Amino acid sequence: MISKSTHIIIVGAGIVGASLAYHLASKNVRVTLIDGARGPARDATEKSFAWITAGDDVIETHFNFRQQAIADWHRLENELRGAFKVNWSGALSWYKDMAEADRIVNKLSSFEYKVRLIDSQQIQHLEPNLKIIPDQAVFAENEGAIDAVLTTKLLVAAAGNAGADIRFNTTVLSLITSGSRIKGVVTANGNLNADMVVLAIGTGTAALCQPMGLTLPIDISPAILMKFRTQQRFVNRIVSNPFMEIRAASNELMLAAEDYIDESVENNPQAIARRTSETIKKHWQGTEQIELINTMVGKRPVPKDGQPIIGRTPDIDGLYLSVMHPGVTLAAIAGRLATDEIISDQDNVLLSAYRPNRFN
Ligand SMILES: Cc1cc2nc3c(=O)[nH]c(=O)nc-3n(C[C@H](O)[C@H](O)[C@H](O)COP(=O)(O)OP(=O)(O)OC[C@H]3O[C@@H](n4cnc5c(N)ncnc54)[C@H](O)[C@@H]3O)c2cc1C
Repeated sequence: MISKSTHIIIVGAGIVGASLAYHLASKNVRVTLIDGARGPARDATEKSFAWITAGDDVIETHFNFRQQAIADWHRLENELRGAFKVNWSGALSWYKDMAEADRIVNKLSSFEYKVRLIDSQQIQHLEPNLKIIPDQAVFAENEGAIDAVLTTKLLVAAAGNAGADIRFNTTVLSLITSGSRIKGVVTANGNLNADMVVLAIGTGTAALCQPMGLTLPIDISPAILMKFRTQQRFVNRIVSNPFMEIRAASNELMLAAEDYIDESVENNPQAIARRTSETIKKHWQGTEQIELINTMVGKRPVPKDGQPIIGRTPDIDGLYLSVMHPGVTLAAIAGRLATDEIISDQDNVLLSAYRPNRFN
């Protein structure tokens, strides 16, 4: 159990660290949230497509966790009393191979997930502006999306209102230990003492842990977020197909996401954005005037086995890690469960598959 005076430093004010800061501060824990950037959500979170999804290719235990993760976003919406809204539009997915849709619906239905196969008529009803309509698609009606930057800012503000000390422009250079116990962090602005340090620094985690002898296999996986200005909303749901992921952020702003390939003339992010723009025009009505306003490459922190890393580190007392993909989907549940564990000093079975020591 932690005491009233226990001081916890959370490093990283992306959506994962912001959620944790909010959850801990709301339970009256003394929290300092620090980030090297000028403000919240300046790294992967800023570039996120921000689809809250249970995914379609995970094993049952992880799938249950992801379903819980969706429920946690509903909880957070209620808890923050409408300060932010998830757009629960549902998600429509189709694949190159039509048999894939069948396979996915059968699998997800067996996990009792609310998902169904719909035909071309139903697809047209949901997306009347689609020019090229597939024969069938998977409709996951309880999925949604958020404005990841706004939500992170709100969580940081809520943490601040609950008493958290928030410091930006404070890069952590290393961790301070005494024997095997964490004592604080060395920052570019001086040392900060703490009883516990939580790292929510995404792709920065492995480098900061390495000097402590902790090797974490976390891939840095780049992906591209494109923003388009449009005269009218042409897409209603989150749509994922072999060409792109696309959704409306508002009536005037569309988001599309694509995998990063390389910096070659044919495949650099600008070239992909131009191709995506042409593909949108080919597939959707009312898109002749769309205008690309921004192309950003974000670096996703993806642990080698694809699963989150959440929990205390094996050999360093007082160090807790919280690094994951897809981090927007998982931020609300990760914040709640990590807070419960930290406060109670009891392991939560829901996190048992995600411990840092599984790589030892
Ligand atoms: C194009 C794209 C599309 C995506 N789509 C989705 C999606 O649809 N759904 C989904 O769930 N996820 C999606 N993701 C992934 C998701 O965005 C990330 O998993 C999530 O944002 C990670 O959040 P985070 O808080 O862990 O990390 P980050 O947002 O990267 O935040 C880490 C923070 O730590 C700070 N930091 C790092 N090192 C230090 C240091 N040494 N000292 C101090 N501060 C430090 C950084 O400044 C940053 O603010 C997507 C990502 C991309 C790029």
